[in-house]
Amino acid sequence: MKIHEYQGKEILRKFGVTVPRGIPCMSVDEAVKAAEELGGPVWVVKAQIHAGGRGKGGGVKVAKSIEQVKEYAEQIMGMQLITHQTGPEGQKVRRLLIEEGADIKKELYVSLVTDRVTQKVVLMASSEGGMDIEEVAHSNPEKIHSIAIDPAVGLTDAEADDISTKIGIPAESLPEARQNLKGLYQAYWDTDSSLAEINPLILTGNGKVIALDAKFNFDANALFRQPEIMAYRDIDEEDPAEVEASKFDLAYISLDGNIGCLVNGAGLAMATMDTIKLFGGEPANFLDVGGGATAEKVTEAFKIMLKNPGLKAILVNIFGGIMRCDVIAEGVITASKAVSLQVPLVVRMKGTNEDLGKKMLADSGLPIIAADTMEDAAKAVVAAAAGNA
Ligand code: ADP
Ligand code: MG
Repeated sequence: MKIHEYQGKEILRKFGVTVPRGIPCMSVDEAVKAAEELGGPVWVVKAQIHAGGRGKGGGVKVAKSIEQVKEYAEQIMGMQLITHQTGPEGQKVRRLLIEEGADIKKELYVSLVTDRVTQKVVLMASSEGGMDIEEVAHSNPEKIHSIAIDPAVGLTDAEADDISTKIGIPAESLPEARQNLKGLYQAYWDTDSSLAEINPLILTGNGKVIALDAKFNFDANALFRQPEIMAYRDIDEEDPAEVEASKFDLAYISLDGNIGCLVNGAGLAMATMDTIKLFGGEPANFLDVGGGATAEKVTEAFKIMLKNPGLKAILVNIFGGIMRCDVIAEGVITASKAVSLQVPLVVRMKGTNEDLGKKMLADSGLPIIAADTMEDAAKAVVAAAAGNA
């Protein structure tokens, strides 16, 4: 789960990380009031969406007067903000953060991620903050420093000072950098984060170290024990199809293609998408209906896929293990009737009660294209999506 920058800064503040004073706002009026409350002479009007790259997209503006705060707030609030992380249609701005302007001397980068290889939380830092870290990793990999943190010890003073020095923090600012890095690590640990990124972490003209941006991702499997984090959820920022799917406990991810996939098991779902791509098609979604899917769940899954106006065909690929093929067949039939299916449907099923499932589909009178192997199924659905069913 992702959260907004202002929420990330709330968390950081709690853990002793220095962040600018700022006030989140839901309207232009609130933004003006916030600016008055903060006092000048410089404010920054920042779009709050669950994506980075807002600055480049026109979603972060520095204002030198209350009138300018109002002008920028009017521009940014409600805009469709397009960044390299939003996709071409962009994301509508519904919240702003009005923040005091910081005196930036140098923009640095720090982040934490859980590294599966070392099985530790890794702290990464670079002197090249403010820009795309992927670009730095590509062109100047030697400018990215990292430490795998021992979970039994946590981030030590020596480690914090060492990495801070490597990214150009002067000796007199090391104690403050240390406090910020240790706070960031504790925040990451205590909130079950999967990513925490401060880009930029800045050095100010008078040697202060401040987190100017805050990005957090949280492990969805740990949210049950993080009610305070869960309260930060902003459904407006999430894909409506994914929100709907989560209500039915379906693992659904929207993608850009036109072939809907309904599969049981995450591994088979991935393999199905690969096979579709191998034969020249593009999946419209990842969908794992899980081991215990009922006919109702399958019906909901169909409804969610069919809400996508770009959908051209559906492939149902089921391995009947715990999940019986006849249950899936019943779900497919009920769903096809309930939603009066208009796109071609290819079904492949293998395993428990396969023959019964196939017979139910054949007897249903629905125009279902039956396929036996993964290859047959993928070829059939790619042809169907191209209008050659
Ligand atoms: P994004 O990463 O989405 O573009 P940031 O919060 O990193 O958004 O802001 C982009 C840039 O705007 C920063 O790199 C920094 O140069 C500037 N900026 C952001 N917040 C402030 C602030 N409070 N004071 C001064 N400059 C800021
Ligand atoms: Mg940033």
